[in-house]
Amino acid sequence: MSSASDPNASDCSEVLHRVYEYLDGEMTSDDTAKIKQHLDACGPCLKEYDLDQALKALVKRSCACEEAPVELRTQIMARITTIQVRLTD
Ligand SMILES: [Zn+2]
Repeated sequence: MSSASDPNASDCSEVLHRVYEYLDGEMTSDDTAKIKQHLDACGPCLKEYDLDQALKALVKRSCACEEAPVELRTQIMARITTIQVRLTD
């Protein structure tokens, strides 16, 4: 499979599906290395990853002792959607 014209194409969906596992540290070290390698090489996935990481950090910071209020989550998601729209524009 070394001659594939775009070796990243099939990995992108897998990476984006598993980015939460990656952030949670729920992966094996092999998988973690694989995702990290892909993120280093793939701009679009890295942007998605950055957004997920930002969301997670925001939610974590604002809900140290209780669940994030629905209102806050909605605000954050709206903000991320806006960023994504700007990125793809
Ligand atoms: Zn990718």
